[in-house]
Amino acid sequence: MTNMKGMKCVKCGETAKEARLSFQGHQIDGWKCRCGEEYFDPEQAEKILMLNRIRNKKFRVKLGRMRSNLIIRMPKELERTLGLEKGGEMILQATARKKIEMTA
Ligand SMILES: [Zn+2]
Repeated sequence: MTNMKGMKCVKCGETAKEARLSFQGHQIDGWKCRCGEEYFDPEQAEKILMLNRIRNKKFRVKLGRMRSNLIIRMPKELERTLGLEKGGEMILQATARKKIEMTA
């Protein structure tokens, strides 16, 4: 059905061409047909849906200790959705007396 160049539009039968499309406020890859029908890259669309599902959700985690360092366990949901991996780097920034912003 799909390939790098285009895909057949199920609405009109023409070939939809590769394009950058707007999906829930994000730009993702996909295919757009002359008839106006849009097809989103399913993987990229799924990532955005996953992100929207956990956006603003609060996760309660416990602090642990490894030798002299305090550590936190990253919730699986965040790991998967944000694509975090062991060995990856994060930036921590104290933004208030009891607030830390963490950026992947
Ligand atoms: Zn079409």
